[in-house]
Amino acid sequence: MNIRPRINRWTIARRNLNFATDIKSSLVQPHFVVAGSGVNQPIESMPGINRQSVDVLCETIAGDMALGITAHMLFAVVDHHDKDSTASKASLPDMPLQQAITRLRQEYGGEIVIMTDVCLCTATDHGHCGIVHNHEIDNDLTIPELCKIALSHASAGADYISASDMMDGRVKAIRNTLEEAGFTSTGILSYSVKYASAFYGPFRDAASSSPTFGDRGSHQMDIRSGYDEAILEAVSDESEGADIIMIKPAMTYLDVVRQVADAVTRPVAVYNVSGEYSMVMASTSEEQSTASLVREIFHSFKRAGADIIVSYHARATIAGNWLD
Ligand SMILES: [Zn+2]
Repeated sequence: MNIRPRINRWTIARRNLNFATDIKSSLVQPHFVVAGSGVNQPIESMPGINRQSVDVLCETIAGDMALGITAHMLFAVVDHHDKDSTASKASLPDMPLQQAITRLRQEYGGEIVIMTDVCLCTATDHGHCGIVHNHEIDNDLTIPELCKIALSHASAGADYISASDMMDGRVKAIRNTLEEAGFTSTGILSYSVKYASAFYGPFRDAASSSPTFGDRGSHQMDIRSGYDEAILEAVSDESEGADIIMIKPAMTYLDVVRQVADAVTRPVAVYNVSGEYSMVMASTSEEQSTASLVREIFHSFKRAGADIIVSYHARATIAGNWLD
């Protein structure tokens, strides 16, 4: 087993994220990174969330850092002409995501936590999370490609490789890849318990990552599956070397969060997903109403056992003092 408990203690920002008990310290703001410059493109189904080129993203994160939001999750939105069947461009050092990581690490050193999404779907022309072979997603052909992307993010300076693909055995393979390359302080956040949920719709719009055929039912978890399956996924990822265990979505799986939090020893994260965000945003235009809803939702995550909360509401929550 490749377990390095020091990874979660490596910097002050990582310690605050993983071990502080207040909601503010638990929040992670997601971002969508695109090519170009001066790009600040609203996402219709997710008011307040934009796709941004590296220059605009760095300004946005500077504002977030000034507010005290120190943990950031970055998703690449890859141009159509850069997509192919193996997501080969996703691991290139000059892609926008890798450039953003490099700039943010230079700017903020150990005061920022940079989490970077690793999956193939953002950069495959078929939109699937893995290598497609005979119209099926081939688990073992996919893993080396995930490792290449993970290594490129680690090389650029990511704190946590955030593996969202749900292939079997990929945490161990990514850990071994990082170890062999000497990245012994780079963490792995594993999307361990990720359901094939209908709440991801607005995200796929944001990241233009919908599959062109079929669905994600063969790798993401069945929404009907019980606690045994969730605990199996979480415990096996932990034993393979995951530093943070993620459950996604959050609001419809709070019971699973509690079960998993009780079963693992590593910090537990929840992803307050795009559909959950859009539901809240569509329900009211009054800031005080939104604030009350979000505060109540965040407390439910904490009560269920979440140490870390990834949420599109993070910035507005802190900027508006919604937790007070
Ligand atoms: Zn994917």
